[in-house]
Amino acid sequence: MTMARTNTVIVLLGPPGAGKGTQADRIKREIGLTHVSTGDMFRDEVARGTELGLKAKAYMDRGDLVPDEVTIGMLLGRLAQQQGGILLDGFPRTLEQAKALDRALEERGSAVDRVLAIAVPDDELLSRLSGRWLCRNCGAVYHEKNQPPKQAGKCDACGGELYQRDDDKREAAVRRLERQRPPDALIGHYRSQGKLVEVDGQRSVDAVGDDLIAALR
Ligand code: ADP
Ligand code: AMP
Repeated sequence: MTMARTNTVIVLLGPPGAGKGTQADRIKREIGLTHVSTGDMFRDEVARGTELGLKAKAYMDRGDLVPDEVTIGMLLGRLAQQQGGILLDGFPRTLEQAKALDRALEERGSAVDRVLAIAVPDDELLSRLSGRWLCRNCGAVYHEKNQPPKQAGKCDACGGELYQRDDDKREAAVRRLERQRPPDALIGHYRSQGKLVEVDGQRSVDAVGDDLIAALR
């Protein structure tokens, strides 16, 4: 069975820097799902100076989770507009979020199909976050050592300007690693539903991606 049914819902779980965004890019191309990242949605709200962005910004700057009621409201609003299959990246991050997602999907006669958990040790995560560069235009992800762009500061895909996130600086990154690892209760929720696939993320981008794709076919 391939996962590209119209109402497929895949969740990517993992600590900050595990490679969720990097792998989402490949999965959405190969499986044909819409990539929805709550981190990207929040950054967009902040950039546009919306009320939601103002609420989220202080939490994001500190490296804390945005409160559940704000995050759940935003994601469910996005879900309501969604037609085809979806790849969730960075949501859910708490058990409450997972339960809200289950309820909303159930109302649509749908459910989470599979949860892909990418595991990477802390020291590797810090080095990934500190070297991460993103395209301001298309969101492509690079790393100054592991996945460098052909030309420093410029996106290979679209020529856009590359930037580093403020919350990838050491202090906020350390705090995110302390506070934003998927909690055991969240992992347990999906394990007990028989949906969890755990993948060793401390390998090459291609090797990790091969395992994730295999888990979806
Ligand atoms: P997340 O979305 O989980 O926070 P990203 O996909 O943004 O993580 O990846 C974090 C950083 O690690 C990026 O700079 C990316 O280029 C790099 N990276 C991703 N996967 C790997 C990997 N398997 N090996 C080495 N570096 C990686
Ligand atoms: P990310 O791009 O996934 O690293 O997320 C960036 C920031 O957005 C996080 O540090 C949180 O402050 C916030 N955020 C993203 N997703 C969530 C979520 N599911 N729950 C709470 N906060 C989130």
